[in-house]
Amino acid sequence: MQKIDPILEFVEITPTARIVPDEHGWRSKCLQRLIRLDLPVPKTVALPAATVRAIASGHVVNARAMLEVFGDGPLVSVRPSPANPDWGGPATILNIGLNDARHAQLALTHGEAAADALYVRFVQSYAIHVARLDPDAFEEIKPGPGALAEVLRLYRNETDDPFPQDPAQQLSEVLRSMARAWEGTSARLLRQVKGAPPEAGLGLVVQAMAQGIGQGISGSGVIQFVDPVTGLPQVTGRYLGQSQGRDALKTEAALYLTCDKRGPSLEEVAPELFAELLRFGAVCRQRLREEMQIEFTIEDGRLAVLDAVKVQRSVRAGLHIAVALARDGVIPPQEAVLRVEPRALSELLHHQVDPRGPRDVIARGIAASPGAASGKLVFTSDAAQASAARGEACILVRRETAPEDIRGMHSSAAVLTERGGMTSHAAVIARGLGLPCVVGASDMRLDMRERKLTASDGRVFHEGDVITLDGSKGQALAGVADMLPPALDDSFRQLLAWADAFRDIGIRANADTPSDAATARRFEAQGIGLCRTEHMFFEEERLVVMREMIFANSPEERAAALARLLPMQRDDFVQLFDIMQGLPVCIRLFDPPLHEFLPHDRDGLRGLAEALDRPLSEVTRRADALREVNPMLGMRGVRLGVVLPEIYNMQAQAIFEATIESAQRGAPIVPEVMIPLVSAKREVEMVKARIDAVAAMVRTHAKVDFDYKLGVMVETPRAALRAGEIAQHAGFLSFGTNDLTQMTYGLSRDDAGRFMNSYVQLGVFPEDPFHILDVDGVGELLLMGAERGRATRKDLTLSICGEHGGNPESIDFCRRAGFDYVSCSPYRVPMARLAAAHLALRDQASSR
Ligand code: PEP
Ligand code: MG
Repeated sequence: MQKIDPILEFVEITPTARIVPDEHGWRSKCLQRLIRLDLPVPKTVALPAATVRAIASGHVVNARAMLEVFGDGPLVSVRPSPANPDWGGPATILNIGLNDARHAQLALTHGEAAADALYVRFVQSYAIHVARLDPDAFEEIKPGPGALAEVLRLYRNETDDPFPQDPAQQLSEVLRSMARAWEGTSARLLRQVKGAPPEAGLGLVVQAMAQGIGQGISGSGVIQFVDPVTGLPQVTGRYLGQSQGRDALKTEAALYLTCDKRGPSLEEVAPELFAELLRFGAVCRQRLREEMQIEFTIEDGRLAVLDAVKVQRSVRAGLHIAVALARDGVIPPQEAVLRVEPRALSELLHHQVDPRGPRDVIARGIAASPGAASGKLVFTSDAAQASAARGEACILVRRETAPEDIRGMHSSAAVLTERGGMTSHAAVIARGLGLPCVVGASDMRLDMRERKLTASDGRVFHEGDVITLDGSKGQALAGVADMLPPALDDSFRQLLAWADAFRDIGIRANADTPSDAATARRFEAQGIGLCRTEHMFFEEERLVVMREMIFANSPEERAAALARLLPMQRDDFVQLFDIMQGLPVCIRLFDPPLHEFLPHDRDGLRGLAEALDRPLSEVTRRADALREVNPMLGMRGVRLGVVLPEIYNMQAQAIFEATIESAQRGAPIVPEVMIPLVSAKREVEMVKARIDAVAAMVRTHAKVDFDYKLGVMVETPRAALRAGEIAQHAGFLSFGTNDLTQMTYGLSRDDAGRFMNSYVQLGVFPEDPFHILDVDGVGELLLMGAERGRATRKDLTLSICGEHGGNPESIDFCRRAGFDYVSCSPYRVPMARLAAAHLALRDQASSR
């Protein structure tokens, strides 16, 4: 017999007892709060982690003294209480203290059958969890006549001892087995996955059993007051008469809580008890500042609250609950904002498969772009376009996508590919378009010729069959799944409105097209931080004119082609300005090398020769002459603007004419014109002189005045270093961190993918610098450029517009560097707004 260690402490939970979450665990603390709220919690004792650790290493707690806290002949339960509920813990054990004598008493008060059932259940769980006997043999024994004798006989057979009759010995053994289970390797690994530190301890809670069986109304159940998927008010849960623990959740026979067509409910059977539960829920919400799920029992009409845990919730529900608590004055709006994780927002911007509905999975892959859509299967981009023309939603399935699939992707509701990863073509384009996308679904087989998809279980789906693609989970499902609409509801807007009030850095969107701009507006971006104009020239009718311009033999010919592009370009800007309604729009002048607009194969060149009415040989020769060995470092950006000034002249004219036209209809517009790829002050001087001249010409011609800003995109290291002198001619500097990263590292944006994984795996780079801003190197250039620019011009506007713009880490960096705004893709705007608010609120809290 081991010696009892008198120094092992435990404490009865009373309103004033010293209960510390880090020592006694979350459950003990929560129970103390419930006790302080005067809820009917049965008597409870808490064991701190130090005691439990000592028990695990062989010390013995004074279980008899502990049982004395509960009075005469108690039955108790033991539950785990780690510091964080997510870390789990060993299974709860109920009815400790039950022995032959107590069974006989119970048989008199509650009837033989009920007493037998409780005793059988206790012996079973003791045998399995404490004596560690074969679960199968014990679980086979079902309650009923003879079950008790059988379970006691089996216990004796397996252990060579009778079932222990001393309640103190039972409790001591239960505590020992739970303490040891927590120290086991698999339990340790499991909780570490959930974020527990290696030294995380376990508190335990010993509680008087509230029986849930009796002559009057008796039973047990759980109740919560919000829907776990939507977060909207809704009483859910179950109640089962003559039951214990979470039995009510395991059986069809359970009662509903509120009146329900499907069967009898607690509300009808015991309206006063139901009303009391509602009151408990309201008290918990108000005082614990959380939506709680309450575990309760009713013994002969008396309610007891055994436990309360935070309601499990989806992101959508979490957002709704936080906003509702703040609106009701339970928590301040700051706390509501901090309760929602910025990165989690992206799943709310799209349709989602309802997690409560059935899922018939036919393929699995990488969740490359969030959201879900249903539609008819199509296997080619042409079929996708035809389907869109018929007004039918379709899901485009390809082995992988290529640039020529972009129109097909535009026409589809979602995209599924057999190959590819997070940065494959399909994934990148789909994220930009906000389309759900699953890539690398290699467990399906595609037959592109027969146009059929064979699922891993052998089922075959043909073109026209309907499937659902879940880009958030990386799954394709058969048929039409139940959907939840995007959660851009009132709560979503309210949370972001609060976030906007707390944040101290602007958020704009990168938007090239009217549809991007509309998305930017929907997500309440404060303007467009980067409009890349080159995309506007890729449309079919414009491409032809563009090519005529490229092949022009003289400035006059070039000007004539550009004159045809002018109205189209003006129209683009009018649309953008109209949509943005006076919010700032920053337009970047033409950036890419010209050869990107030329056909790449012989057929294309022949077509071009026909369109231009020139010999094929001449067109081929001119195209070859335009090719560059290293185009990203060649004739692009401002260099084109200097050497072929007509292009920028046309664009400036289009911007200013659109400004006048759009301003006549709505809010005054001050367009921001941005020069890309600058490396020298002189480039800016030259372009600025010409743009000022175009502005003067447009003003004179239209007899209307307007204002505009001219700025520089800092994307070469030299521009960052010389920002001081460049700022003499620029009202704003916007850091293009894509090119700046490329040029700082000397790392090709287009080819780095080949070795980036190895580089990150080998720890050469901590992260891919094209995804996470390199604050040490590229960041130093940003700081230098910002400081030198502001030294020249105090009111210089500073921003960042590369892909990094939406990352919370980059926003943090830009805030600290005193930038005015970040600009990111429209679908990242909500996350950026929330992340910026988190940063500001955390700063405020730490400076208090
Ligand atoms: C950049 O270089 O960071 C940028 C935003 O421009 P682009 O990606 O168009 O080169
Ligand atoms: Mg760039």
